[in-house]
Amino acid sequence: MRSFVLAGFVFLMGAATAAAQDVPTFVKPETPALVDTYKDIHAHPELSHFEERTSGILAAALREAGYTVTERVGRYPDGSQAFGVVGILKNGAGPTLMIRADMDALPIVEETGVPYASHVTTKNKDGVTVGVMHACGHDVHTTVLIGTARGMAAMKSRWHGTLMLVGQPSEETIDGAKAMLADHLYERFGRPDRIIGLHDTNGLAAGTVGVRSGSSASSSTSVDVVIRGIGGHGAYPNTGRDPITLAALYITQIQTIVSREEDPQDPTVVTVGHIEGGTKRNIIPNEVKLELTTRSFTDKSRDTVINGLKQMAAGITASAGLPPEKAATVTVLEDESTPVLYNDPPQTEKVKGTLVKTLGADNVIDIPRGMASEDVGVFALPSHEIPLTYFILGAMDPVKLVAAKAAGKELPGPHTSRFEPLPEPTLRTGVTAMTSVAISLLQ
Ligand SMILES: [Zn+2]
Ligand SMILES: [Zn+2]
Repeated sequence: MRSFVLAGFVFLMGAATAAAQDVPTFVKPETPALVDTYKDIHAHPELSHFEERTSGILAAALREAGYTVTERVGRYPDGSQAFGVVGILKNGAGPTLMIRADMDALPIVEETGVPYASHVTTKNKDGVTVGVMHACGHDVHTTVLIGTARGMAAMKSRWHGTLMLVGQPSEETIDGAKAMLADHLYERFGRPDRIIGLHDTNGLAAGTVGVRSGSSASSSTSVDVVIRGIGGHGAYPNTGRDPITLAALYITQIQTIVSREEDPQDPTVVTVGHIEGGTKRNIIPNEVKLELTTRSFTDKSRDTVINGLKQMAAGITASAGLPPEKAATVTVLEDESTPVLYNDPPQTEKVKGTLVKTLGADNVIDIPRGMASEDVGVFALPSHEIPLTYFILGAMDPVKLVAAKAAGKELPGPHTSRFEPLPEPTLRTGVTAMTSVAISLLQ
């Protein structure tokens, strides 16, 4: 009994100490353990739809920090279960704040050379063996969420309301947020009043953050195109219609949508990221498949891109004199598309104020909007119904970043095999920033 009382006293003392501390002072001694967690997650990356181990680590950490945790939240359109994690911590009356972190990795062979580099390989959906790497830094995001969970639990006396921590699967395939909403995320766990999240970057030094109000990242639309022709012997191209030549013409022509049809003040991107056609050098195939991604900030420019892709596909088919059944097809994949990421201006100004106060004005940088898409905006619901703020976390070694800039170069960025966040200052800054912002939004 005596030791129980004593343990309770020590616990209360600990809680009182944490409550009295400022956030950076609390986070600093917590960081070494978080670095270990980060390195473990980094060395064991999992592709989108397969985040079983990572989601288990997150769920266990949230449970240990006192959250009520539900695993396997999310359902994909094919009916399969997703590895979403939801941790709830109720702390009296007040608003519900959702903090979102994504957990998935990319099919890339890691070339950073760090001691905790991934050596994981797996088979992709086509049965091809690929390397797996946390090349988008979602291991940083997951670890920051764990650190923030601990900070918020320890500093409960400084905020009121409900904290809803979300570990999202499948950001890279942009179907994870949709899968969680389709599994009634808000009906089951409550609809949040505010949402925050972060993404790490190669453009800023560890120790700094970037913020932007309003449109911050473009929408992305995935499009499949099939260019058809008439197959035959490679030695007698005149007897068929070569879809590879037609695809080459099409790929070149669609860049004129951006350069000649769009308003130059309203930026767009059209990229063909995958092309597949033919089996052998001397056979003209029947068709060529293209996978495209397009980016825009407005519905008008998105429509211009999609209409251009359709018109030019029809034009290519017509110019080859192909019959209607050989017409090229353009399919917009709405399930693989994301809305514009819109940072709610009043909330974002408040977040920025907190970041300046916590990290210092020199460490909070105004950033331009970007063309990289993010599905976190899906959680904000159509027309940006729930205020969202998504800020950027500097992740680069400051010395290396200065040297690269002096040489007019960039350090390797997300989606490359050499993207290398510097763990300690990045995680410490991420947890400090996220915890401070969460406390400020739950007053
Ligand atoms: Zn990514
Ligand atoms: Zn990412």
